Amino acid sequence: MVASTTKVPFVDLNRQYDEVGAEIEERVLAVLRSGRYISGPEVSQLEDEFAKFCGALFAVAVNSGTAALHIALLSLGIGPGDEVITVAHTFVATAEAIVAAGARPVFVDIDPATCNMDPKGIAAAITPQTKAILPVHLYGQPAQMDEIIALGERYAIPVIEDACQAHGATFAGHAAGSMGSIGCFSFYPSKNLGAAGEGGIAVTNSPELAARMRQLRDHGQAKRYHHEAMGYNYRLPEIQAAVLRVKLPRLAGWNASRRAAAASYDSLLAGLNLGTVAQADKTSSVYHLYVVRTPQREMVAKALGQSGIATGVHYPIPVHLQTPFREYGQGEGSLPNTEAAAREVLSLPMFPEITQEEISTVIEQLTAVLGGPR
Ligand SMILES: *Cc1c(COP(=O)(O)O)cnc(C)c1O
Repeated sequence: MVASTTKVPFVDLNRQYDEVGAEIEERVLAVLRSGRYISGPEVSQLEDEFAKFCGALFAVAVNSGTAALHIALLSLGIGPGDEVITVAHTFVATAEAIVAAGARPVFVDIDPATCNMDPKGIAAAITPQTKAILPVHLYGQPAQMDEIIALGERYAIPVIEDACQAHGATFAGHAAGSMGSIGCFSFYPSKNLGAAGEGGIAVTNSPELAARMRQLRDHGQAKRYHHEAMGYNYRLPEIQAAVLRVKLPRLAGWNASRRAAAASYDSLLAGLNLGTVAQADKTSSVYHLYVVRTPQREMVAKALGQSGIATGVHYPIPVHLQTPFREYGQGEGSLPNTEAAAREVLSLPMFPEITQEEISTVIEQLTAVLGGPR
């Protein structure tokens, strides 16, 4: 192979900063000069604006997506002895939050076409201990929320959405995070809406759940030094809220750019010997990641890397097979679709500012590696 100088990054946060940096610096400087660094106007306005963005009534800002999941579970009263149904084909934080709440994660398999929770597996996993269903909107595509919500209603089990990769995605016109009892988002820098550091938020239509989550994120206090519940310090700093408020009005446009890049990949990849992640009816993904599938993943990733194209794997080891989760008893072979996906998925460069030329470069190299159209 000819050594190439081509460089296509997996994600390039600097390009976004070129667009919004000046405004962010102005707003962050204003926070620094205000002397108000915690629980101030930036956080409460971000909460109003993000709730509106999701079509939800309330939003509770916290300092990570993991914290959002943790307080979501706790606010629903979930704890020791309880079970929460989720997927193992996800970032580990989904399951970590369940364990942090004291509950037991019960993993169901994914639909091999979409890589999202397969609703067909849920009913069989429900026991008298099941206290929540926690689907993940993986790669930016909402899970089958009509079926999942219907099951939740039938068994009177709340649904918590892990929307950490799906800010702005929709299912049947409903925003990700707004369909279950609570929706949880991450503002990790590379997420579709990213802070300049850590951040997260939980949205809900329930005033009771919102109030409980506000207490939990702030040492369990309802008013100062009156600690009514065991709580945490999960508060989002004002500086991060200021950064996020500059970016939020641009999120829809950035998501549209991701969708256009994905459409480009879709059409250019059509002739190649590669599996794809199907987009289910009624879903509109925000393509946090653009994922293909191939049994020759290691070879393909290595060849692309040698031509300067960065790729990722989300995720190589499913959660049920990670060391601290083995004690929950779901061993190798228990989730065949999940385990197959973990062996085959490969994430291609994807970010709003990716150029058509960069996408073409990725396709050219993939074509070279895979030996042309099938
Ligand atoms: C990023 C992510 C989280 C955790 O968010 P943090 O802000 O990093 O704590 C949880 N679930 C999924 C699916 C994620 O992608």
